[in-house]
Amino acid sequence: MKISNYFACPECDLLLQQHNAVEGDKVHCPRCNYLLHRPHAQSVKYTFILSLTGLFLLLPANLLPIVGVKILGNAQDGTLLSGVFTLFNEGMWAVSIVVFLSSILFPMLSIILSLLISGHLYFKRTNRHLSLWLRILHHIEEWAMLEVYLLGIIVACVKLASMAELKFGLGLIAFVLLLLVSLMLASNFDGMLFWREIETLQKIKNKSLKF
Ligand SMILES: [Zn+2]
Repeated sequence: MKISNYFACPECDLLLQQHNAVEGDKVHCPRCNYLLHRPHAQSVKYTFILSLTGLFLLLPANLLPIVGVKILGNAQDGTLLSGVFTLFNEGMWAVSIVVFLSSILFPMLSIILSLLISGHLYFKRTNRHLSLWLRILHHIEEWAMLEVYLLGIIVACVKLASMAELKFGLGLIAFVLLLLVSLMLASNFDGMLFWREIETLQKIKNKSLKF
């Protein structure tokens, strides 16, 4: 038995044979109906373009003011990073760490790793860390939750709207765009294609080393 021709369903562990699904197909597990694969032929190219766009949005989304608050003549601008520091200084250090990880560090790492991996695959450059980067990306994707922070901003604004003057900043536009780019990245990402491309690059490299 060639073990490389088989893979396990991540939900019910049923051993399945590799398939030849094409763009537009949906491959479901015959036992638990889990959506195993939805092929995106252009996934590498789109991931490269989208993660490059995301990289340019990271700095303004994190450093520019998201919302300005004016209460009794006192104006203060709030950025994503200053929000984390405020939470920490108020004694809510556990919340501040969770917000920092899920809204700043993991989304940032996710975009940088997506760019590194898709860039190598797009330009057919091999790298011995490609498999490791993709494995890390699979794990941190579950923890990057920009939408949770956006929900927090909306709730805070609704609460403050009656007692303060609010002014939305450029950081909010960059943050919403970054959220959209992240969602598009997730929906266009074809993990199986990425693993196949890494395997192909590795085989080409091994062949060239033999000669
Ligand atoms: Zn299954």
